[in-house]
Amino acid sequence: MYIMSGDTQMELEIGEFVRISDHTFMVIGERPHGNVGGIALENYSIAIDSTGNSSGGRVFRKKLEEYYKFPIKYVILTHYHGDHINGRQTFKDIDLIVSNYTPTAKRRFKNGLFIKDEYLIQDGSYTVTIFHTGGHTVGSMFIHFPAEDIIFAGDLIFENLFPPFGGDPTCNPELWFQALEKIKSLKPAKIVPGHGSYLTGDGITHHLSNLKKLRGTIKEAIKENHKPHDIEISDFYGEFHSRWWSRTLPHWFSFYSTIDKIPGILEEIRSRSTDQNRIFLSKMTITELKVLANHLKIRISGNKKNIVGEILKNINL
Ligand SMILES: [Zn+2]
Repeated sequence: MYIMSGDTQMELEIGEFVRISDHTFMVIGERPHGNVGGIALENYSIAIDSTGNSSGGRVFRKKLEEYYKFPIKYVILTHYHGDHINGRQTFKDIDLIVSNYTPTAKRRFKNGLFIKDEYLIQDGSYTVTIFHTGGHTVGSMFIHFPAEDIIFAGDLIFENLFPPFGGDPTCNPELWFQALEKIKSLKPAKIVPGHGSYLTGDGITHHLSNLKKLRGTIKEAIKENHKPHDIEISDFYGEFHSRWWSRTLPHWFSFYSTIDKIPGILEEIRSRSTDQNRIFLSKMTITELKVLANHLKIRISGNKKNIVGEILKNINL
């Protein structure tokens, strides 16, 4: 059994340390750091995310090792945004668990263990399950610690900030909804978000309904031929983040403008040869191609020609 040391709540250089349960804690990251967390199993501990820079990573590692008096066996990176992964240099000697769907994952994470849809860690009587869901980014994952009904949600949840940041080019709002439904179905007692303090399990209902309201507003605007900048929102939760709004809104707007066309596009592709499809895809807009690739879970990068090439190479009809 590990020995806990130190206070259950204190200020660290990277943010506020908060004990969540007997076996878990979080640090509420202050810019440039996202939240990080720790889980103690029987013989070792696990770090969740790595802070936003190397000095942050060092502070976090030291705290995790001192607090549980255990070696750290894994660092789970919930997704590829810098405020969560830039402290990873401090964990060079430790296996990083990364989603296989993360763009350029293998180049970026040398000591990575690349996982697909679900991954189980077992240590004695404790288990930790990592679920890849996509949503906030194509590689987004959340972590479930059933012994204490705790979920570490990464940036699938931003506590008390609206909108959540949904402007990443790989963000898929529909997968995001599915991820939140999945978290809800596990009935967690506490959820640690990617930013802000933890919430109790029923807090997720509130987040889901606000995001659904946002989706409804955007779909309505598309139907009425409005442009993204015509959309005004009010009456949503938390502190309004105008910079995120200006990036989230256009992305969600293009996403929902395109998503309904996808069944028709796939139908067309099925009926053509590769050469014909190259011409057909080249006539689509960049946004449509991105949404299509995202829908088909095809990793893309580069210019339009490269994107068309990647889709043709990986499409599996
Ligand atoms: Zn993020």
